Amino acid sequence: MHHFEYKVNELYCEDVPIKKIAAEVGTPVYIYSHATLERHFRVFDEALAQGRTKKHLICYSVKANSNLAVLRTLVALGAGVDTVSRGEIYRAIKVGCDPKKIVFSGVGKRDDEIAYALEVGILAFNVESHGELEAIERVAASMNKKAPVSLRVNPDVDAETHPYISTGLKKNKFGIPVTRAREEFAFARQQPHLEVVGLDCHIGSQLTKPSPFRDAIARLGELTRSLIQDGVPIKLLDIGGGLGISYNEEDPPSPADYGAAIREALAAFEDLDLTLICEPGRVIVGNAGVLVTKTLFLKQGEVKNFVIVDAAMNDLIRPAFYDSYHGIWPVVRKQGASAFVADVVGPICETSDFLARDRALTQQPAEGDLLALMSAGAYGFTMSSNYNTRPRVAEVMVKGGEFAVVRKRETLDDLLRGEEIPSFVK
Ligand SMILES: *Cc1c(COP(=O)(O)O)cnc(C)c1O
Repeated sequence: MHHFEYKVNELYCEDVPIKKIAAEVGTPVYIYSHATLERHFRVFDEALAQGRTKKHLICYSVKANSNLAVLRTLVALGAGVDTVSRGEIYRAIKVGCDPKKIVFSGVGKRDDEIAYALEVGILAFNVESHGELEAIERVAASMNKKAPVSLRVNPDVDAETHPYISTGLKKNKFGIPVTRAREEFAFARQQPHLEVVGLDCHIGSQLTKPSPFRDAIARLGELTRSLIQDGVPIKLLDIGGGLGISYNEEDPPSPADYGAAIREALAAFEDLDLTLICEPGRVIVGNAGVLVTKTLFLKQGEVKNFVIVDAAMNDLIRPAFYDSYHGIWPVVRKQGASAFVADVVGPICETSDFLARDRALTQQPAEGDLLALMSAGAYGFTMSSNYNTRPRVAEVMVKGGEFAVVRKRETLDDLLRGEEIPSFVK
């Protein structure tokens, strides 16, 4: 469900024609729908607002889309945030997020990041290793503070998703093996500047079945019970993010089904008084954004047609990185058009610089025609780079009949900012 729809033959975001935004802001441009963000957050929140999941906090995963306007929209609706760097915590504070709704994940936290999070006063560090426990203890001691920690355990369940976004298996770098968890909790409890508050996991991204979530919760629940019996005061049960969206033909559980699956898995642990934390990213923002690009040239190769557009892998890396699918919709539909099979590619000198391969487009684009890459709201702009000295593109938010640039297109000076030629280089 999203608010990108045709009115007659023109694609709109809510009540604004996409053509109008492209004319005023230029291309490529990311466009986000405020109504869609709001709806996705509300639906997710409501899916948990009953029974055993009623006591919950949604910590939106900032890395999916960290634009300040997006963050502000979600924080204003009551969201907390899941962060993975000092920079993301800084963004959350900038938009007025309550520090007590911030969790800090990631396998490699530096001392300065730990210190910053302690200064801010976050809800919990999601700790991923023994070394990290020691580092947090050391930094907290130096600041004379007590650090709230949850331990991220690796429940060894198969998320059945792309290997690059599968994170809950023994062979992955994430979390503490479930078999070692009790001794690490015991260690954490002995540290004077750590306060153990919870248990955490995140098994992967773009999950399209409820069963891996159920399996992970079952393992975490058992562990929580034995920890509580050991006297460890577990209050937070963080089950991570990972709920998938439909890019093409996937049929992921709806937030309501997801909520029901969690409640079912939690049934065995009803006696434990826990606050559930979820860290959704993609499911909130994925379908709330598109990347609009302009057709530069059509090229007939010996065996293929190429549509060369002004967006490239540096703007949207998902197709090159994960071989992922984004729907491609014409911004203006032509009468009586027939399908046209082509690779849609960017201007970068890499064979992996494609946005779609062997795609049956609904019509043949002409030079200058605009195309919308659908479902680009998550891991789109945030994974973009300046490869080939290409400026990062503008981001726009639409609300009803209004729109605003929420991040300016980078300029040539932005691209060179911080670089210097030292005196020893002639
Ligand atoms: C990336 C990430 C998420 C969000 O994952 P989605 O698939 O976007 O929901 C949540 N928690 C952690 C720890 C992550 O690394």
